Amino acid sequence: MTASHQPARNSAEAERIAFFSLAGLGFTALHLTCLLMLWLQCSWVALATCLACYLLRMFGITAGFHRYLAHRTYRTSRTFQFLLACLGTAAAQRGPLWWVAQHRQHHRYADTALDIHSPVVRSFWWAHMGWLLCRRYKETDLRWVKDWC
Ligand SMILES: [Zn+2]
Repeated sequence: MTASHQPARNSAEAERIAFFSLAGLGFTALHLTCLLMLWLQCSWVALATCLACYLLRMFGITAGFHRYLAHRTYRTSRTFQFLLACLGTAAAQRGPLWWVAQHRQHHRYADTALDIHSPVVRSFWWAHMGWLLCRRYKETDLRWVKDWC
């Protein structure tokens, strides 16, 4: 599976954020339900649990997807590797191989048309979540993750 980036064919339609795709609905619903906190009562335990889950997911992305899987900054056991992949996946930023492939391309082509999550080339919102929800980039380019396949 490949998803080559072809800037010459970029168009607003091709780069539209797919809020109504399966991944988009889950991602959007997850964030919108957080707004319910404004109207619903909740306990300190619920808030603490929410914060703990958020921190665990961010740890999965930063220590797992980013530092370990994409950059191979450190070594760890197979069990902890699996745990990091699970935590990162829980952050709803697609799967580890997809994320790693996109991130490696990001470093290779930083802030050019080939960098799909550049806030400079596109926008803040695109860099924040558009790149995750755009159907155009949903395939995993396995050429960038040969070390994990
Ligand atoms: Zn990086």
